[in-house]
Amino acid sequence: MAFENLSERLQKALKNLTGKGKISEADINQASREIRLALLEADVNFKVVKDFIKQIKKEALGKEVQESLNPGQQVIKIVDEQLTKMMGEEAVKLNKAPHIPTIIMMVGLQGTGKTTTVGKLANYLIKNEKARPLLIAGDIYRPAAIDQLRQIGQQLNVPVYSEDNKDVAQIVEHGLNQAKEDKNDYVIIDTAGRLEIDEALMDELKRITEVAHPDNTLLVVDAMTGQAATQVAEGFNKDLDLTGIVLTKLDGDTRGGAALSVRAVTGLPIIFTGQGEKLDALESFHPDRMASRILGMGDMLTLIEKAQQDYDAKEAEKMAQKMRENTFDFNDFIDQMDQVQKMGPLDQIIKMIPGMANNPALKNIQIPDKQIAHMKAIVYSMTEAEREDPDMLNPSRRRRIAAGSGVPVVEVNRMIKQFKQSKEMMQKMTSGNMKGLGNLPGM
Ligand code: GDP
Repeated sequence: MAFENLSERLQKALKNLTGKGKISEADINQASREIRLALLEADVNFKVVKDFIKQIKKEALGKEVQESLNPGQQVIKIVDEQLTKMMGEEAVKLNKAPHIPTIIMMVGLQGTGKTTTVGKLANYLIKNEKARPLLIAGDIYRPAAIDQLRQIGQQLNVPVYSEDNKDVAQIVEHGLNQAKEDKNDYVIIDTAGRLEIDEALMDELKRITEVAHPDNTLLVVDAMTGQAATQVAEGFNKDLDLTGIVLTKLDGDTRGGAALSVRAVTGLPIIFTGQGEKLDALESFHPDRMASRILGMGDMLTLIEKAQQDYDAKEAEKMAQKMRENTFDFNDFIDQMDQVQKMGPLDQIIKMIPGMANNPALKNIQIPDKQIAHMKAIVYSMTEAEREDPDMLNPSRRRRIAAGSGVPVVEVNRMIKQFKQSKEMMQKMTSGNMKGLGNLPGM
């Protein structure tokens, strides 16, 4: 999980402040030292860290007291604001061309996730804008790349333009003509990568740029490479007019240094982050939400957006209503489980809920498919009346259900307990008392 270590360390540094009625300069200095170390360990650029700490100290010491927040909360607010600023403040969207198609060119080193990201982006545009993209296979040196893109195209039901031609600029030109004929609204161009930046690669990318005039030139960088990612970005940006960055493999990067430094070092905005290998594992990047995730305050907005992308809106409203009215039953539990499975890995989802990110009980939580299958079997072994009214599940009914679903009684008991707990949690959330700073852990 991204930022795990940083998140823990920052929260620890700040926790010491939250209980205090009054904060001295020594307290701020102590917290600043810990924050500085945490950032350096997360592989954030040295200069970026220096500026960050300077700013935190200046703000924390000079801040007028806000009545609604205690001193510790105020420092957290300052750190939250500065983290947001460091990552770029506002979310940046893709540039749109005045006429279709909007052209997106992907560049980056080999293995960073370029081809996968072409697919993820197509999927994102289809889901969010009902787009009709065309993909152009411009990585002709790695034969597998063309097949990989074709497979992605098939999976998404999106056309892929490829050609047996050594001149990539020509392929791109032909692909664009095809898109114009077919009235595709987006064209996403995959390009070749190398293990490191070289002149031949840059020349080829420049030639493609001259033919395609992309509205967006996105550099794909691997978050796991930490600060090296910022150097790669500077290298590419020297020769190409990059418009933004896609930071991939954030799911595997526990440090997060690249995400935190790349904007400040290069001035380029992160537009998307890749959070897994699957085609739906792409998120638009919002500095404020990311800061809040790092500080363990959750990210309800992204969660809601994910839900909107993958949920049936009517279905979601129906569920919300049931939670409010407390009529959520086992049938709904199964429906919910299906919906949540569609949204992505559960450990990532849960951490977006405020207050859940640091819950030690949820650390590394995973619900294997097998367990989900068991849960479903248990519900299917209940009568309709039992599903609607879990309170009637007495021991003899539980034994019958266990026998029917082929699992031990303890598992049935555990599942019923879990159901009751999640029902309670959902009620708390829908009644709105988990929002805001006031519910930060330890406050
Ligand atoms: P390319 O050489 O830049 O085109 O890279 P590929 O698209 O072939 O990706 C290289 C590897 O990285 C593949 O195994 C992908 O599944 C994996 N990958 C790409 N994006 C992500 C991501 O966001 N998270 C994770 N965990 N893996 C990713």
